[in-house]
Formats: sequence, C-alpha cells, structure tokens
Amino acid sequence: MIKIGGMRKINPELMSFIFTAMVKGTPAEDAVMSVLMIPVTIHCYACGRTNTREDTQFLCPACGSRNVQLLSGLEFNIEVLEVEKSN
Ligand SMILES: [Zn+2]
Repeated sequence: MIKIGGMRKINPELMSFIFTAMVKGTPAEDAVMSVLMIPVTIHCYACGRTNTREDTQFLCPACGSRNVQLLSGLEFNIEVLEVEKSN
C-alpha cells in the first residue's frame, strides 16, 4: 500500500497505471497496488483549530490565517510491501 498526502497533488489512478506499467513482464506482474490518500490536516495558530482541507491551499479553512502548520498531507510512503511467490 502506498500512502499519499493530499498536498502531493498525485492522482491515485495515475499511480496505479504507472505501477502496472512498471511491473509488466516482471515476477510482480500480478501485484496489486492500493493507494491511500491522506487528507491535508492544518493546525491554525491564529484560531487554534485543526482542520482538514480538500484542496491544497495553505490557509486556515476556519479563519483564513496563513499562520498555520501542516500536520499531514505530505506523505509518500510505501506502507506494506507483500511479496508472494506463486510457485
Ligand atoms: Zn484559523
């Protein structure tokens, strides 16, 4: 499984397509990649709230302040890599 933060602006379908193209003709050809999108979470120092954003604007969704910290959304991790031998 690959975890991708919402800030990465990566299309999960595109990632799957690239993965399929990469493993074609290799022993991992039948492998399935699952992509988990991580929402963008922002903590605001101005109003003290923590919110998630659907878009990638670096602003507090509640008060519009730029005095914010990004808590999640920059992930690009391979979380689980399972390898199974078929023979
Ligand atoms: Zn705020």
